[in-house]
This record gives sequence, C-alpha cells and structure tokens, in this order.
Amino acid sequence: MAGKTLRLEVVTPERMVLSEEIVSLIVPAIEGYMGILPNHAPIISGLEPGVVKYKVDGNYKKMAISGGFLEVSDNKATILANTAELAEEIDVKRAQAAKERAEKRLHDKGDIDVLRAELALKRALARLKAAGQG
Ligand code: ATP
Repeated sequence: MAGKTLRLEVVTPERMVLSEEIVSLIVPAIEGYMGILPNHAPIISGLEPGVVKYKVDGNYKKMAISGGFLEVSDNKATILANTAELAEEIDVKRAQAAKERAEKRLHDKGDIDVLRAELALKRALARLKAAGQG
C-alpha cells in the first residue's frame, strides 16, 4: 500500500528550516499554486516568493519563502530558498515596515530599481500572509 505521508525538507543557505513527515503540501510555483501529495511523480519547479502551506497530522501550517526551487523524488519534497521562515518565527512589525518601505519606493519611482522593490514587497506580503496578517 502506498505511504500516507511524504518528507518535507526546507533548506536555505543559512539553515535547515524544516524536516518533517507531512500529509500534503501546497507551494507557490511559478505557474501558480501546486499541490503535492504522497508518492507524487518526480518534478522540479521554480517557486515564487509566497506562502508554503503543509499539513502535519490534522493541522495546516504555514511558512513564508522568498522564492527558489522545489524538487520532488522518492516521496521527498525539498524546497531550496534564499530565505524561509516558519509562521511563528515571523516578526510581523519588521515585515510591515518592509512592506511600507517597498510600497513607498514603488510609489516614488525615480531611478530606483523597480524589480528589487517589487521582490521586497512580495517577500513582505508572503511573511504577513504566513503569519496570518495578510
Ligand atoms: P528586511 O528589509 O526587513 O531585512 P528583507 O526581505 O530584505 O526584509 P531578506 O533579505 O529576505 O529580508 O532576509 C534576511 C534575513 O532576515 C533572512 O534570514 C530572513 O529569514 C530574515 N527575515 C527577514 N524578514 C523577516 C521577518 N519579518 N521575520 C523574521 N525573519 C525575517
């Protein structure tokens, strides 16, 4: 009989953020949100800055990622991201301040790097959403 869980590992250049047996996973893939269940076919996909939602036992949990890659093989999902924070690790005030800073930069325009401000805004919005403040 096929297993009822899969392993989720989330790794950043700084640390192993999570390594846990989970029931299901939803990731912000480049093509849109993608669901992963146990025994999923092998894939590699790019990830946008956003919220990763995963189910452990009966509970849904959230984390924010800054974008990166998902690899699924051998019933293991590996997320490689530049930054990732579990919901309970997120400093909401800091994310709110980052959001306001990015919005101001986009509003003021001038010669600033628009793409950089847009990415900073996406990271801040993902953190607020993962922390339940989005
Ligand atoms: P800020 O402008 O507040 O630094 P940022 O989006 O530029 O935000 P990053 O460069 O993505 O920050 O992240 C730098 C480090 O700080 C990473 O380790 C990331 O996990 C952590 N981090 C960033 N924002 C938060 C937050 N609101 N709560 C907890 N950790 C955060």
